[in-house]
Amino acid sequence: MENLTIKKLTDLIMQQAKEKGFGSKPEEINTMEKIALIHGEISEAMEAYRDKKMTGKDGFSEELADAVARIVHLAGIYGVDLEKEILKKLEGNKNREWEWDKMNEEHT
Ligand SMILES: [Mg+2]
Repeated sequence: MENLTIKKLTDLIMQQAKEKGFGSKPEEINTMEKIALIHGEISEAMEAYRDKKMTGKDGFSEELADAVARIVHLAGIYGVDLEKEILKKLEGNKNREWEWDKMNEEHT
């Protein structure tokens, strides 16, 4: 699929959500449950990575895609403009400094 944007992806996911009954309005879903399911996909990605299963069914790649699809679905339900929000985040990071020596987060 050429030139897929987050907006187009959102449209595709929301179209399928309507067709399959996954919910397309806040009153049609349990938001806390949807957030928990996003957590679940992230945990599956972590387990796949731990098991060195990077591709294929239930692999790291698929689980990351599952997480993104669920996030895009939830954003679509609430009308969140993910492109705008991500660009805002990137802009905010430009001049931000992190004190890595005070954090338990590893980078090489
Ligand atoms: Mg999954």
